Amino acid sequence: MDIFSELESSAQCYANSFPVVFTRGRGSYLYDEDGKAYLDFLAGAGALNYGHNHPVLKRALLDYIADDGVAHGLDMHTEGKARFMTAFRDRILAPRGLEYRLQFTGPTGTNAVEAALKLARKIKDRTSVIAFTNGFHGATLGALAATGNEHHRGGAGVPLAHVSRVPYAGYLGRDTDTLRVIDRMLGDPSSGMDLPAAVIVETVQGEGGLNTASNAWLQGLERLCRKHDMLLIVDDIQAGCGRTGTFFSFEPAGIKPDMVTLSKSLSGYGLPMALLLYRPELDVWKPGEHNGTFRGNNHAFVTAAAALEHFWSDDVLADSVRARGEQLRAGLQSLSEKFGVARVRVKGRGLMQGIECADGETAERISRAAFERGLIIETSGNRGQVLKCLCPLIITEAELREGLVILAASLEQELGDRAAKAS
Ligand code: PLP
Repeated sequence: MDIFSELESSAQCYANSFPVVFTRGRGSYLYDEDGKAYLDFLAGAGALNYGHNHPVLKRALLDYIADDGVAHGLDMHTEGKARFMTAFRDRILAPRGLEYRLQFTGPTGTNAVEAALKLARKIKDRTSVIAFTNGFHGATLGALAATGNEHHRGGAGVPLAHVSRVPYAGYLGRDTDTLRVIDRMLGDPSSGMDLPAAVIVETVQGEGGLNTASNAWLQGLERLCRKHDMLLIVDDIQAGCGRTGTFFSFEPAGIKPDMVTLSKSLSGYGLPMALLLYRPELDVWKPGEHNGTFRGNNHAFVTAAAALEHFWSDDVLADSVRARGEQLRAGLQSLSEKFGVARVRVKGRGLMQGIECADGETAERISRAAFERGLIIETSGNRGQVLKCLCPLIITEAELREGLVILAASLEQELGDRAAKAS
């Protein structure tokens, strides 16, 4: 029996889908102990936008460690933190005309979400927040209450309260404007919906199955928040850091959220780090009120600063994400044409796209077939029916083509003529 089967909790999940021992990672590839290469379309569930062990980030980290740079700094001022904050101001906030305070929360996405929800409730002195169908915001109780997924909610062990669930963009079909439904309910004193402190939203629902909100819908949501005096929180933990082609996923919509959560690829190297941004007027915490021992992961600050300097000083990466996004769209679209839109439907935006299959079992079988052929790709969606291509943003045209070829062969194996006749 191997050490994992002997000791590791059944709470692990990715290992069930990709049951090998990985030893190395470089760029868009992971390698197992037998040296087999896997093209990584999972990319640390979106934590590795710049790929595995990017040489520029690795150099910055190794130099910092060699100089005995502070590793753990609580929330004290350190050189590593100054480097990150300076790069974030100069490369991200200033060019976009954004003025946000930076709160370093505990290093997971869910902790940044907890901080956002707590702060919103404290400011507005209201208990409820609005969250959307199929939204995913994390697995700690506050964030989990805002999460829709039945499987994750089932692990809570207590009632998940103080969230009003409303339909996301497109949830009620093309012809129903879900914002009108929400507006109507907020405006009706007998709708039963308490006035919420905030609305928390993903522009593309990563775990929820790559459902996307249009720019017009996001603009409408911002107006709705202003009209009903609610704070707008964009959870950009998965869709941010360039995943959809701009640093913040909401940039094309031209909205200015009151708060933004970031984590996953923020450190650029897979090191834990999370950040909550908010308008300066919202900075009403008392010192240490939202606390945490690991708010000062300076190794993450150093790689994050290096990533911002290297990738966000010009448009090279952003242009490449858009080009690769179009390549991915075209590739997935041709699969949809080949196998029929009812069996393979394209979803998502930028390098956060995938295909919806008829059901979760089919998607799971395709994922397994792809893994056999050397492609790591996970499933998402309310029934696990969406295969999600979350490749590193630095992926080359040839690597993406390779991934699409493997995906096509895996679909052929599971959905092709012979497979259809056998079933
Ligand atoms: N918010 C979004 C949009 C996410 O996709 C995730 C994780 O997938 C989280 C929050 C939670 O982040 P973490 O798993 O780091 O707690």
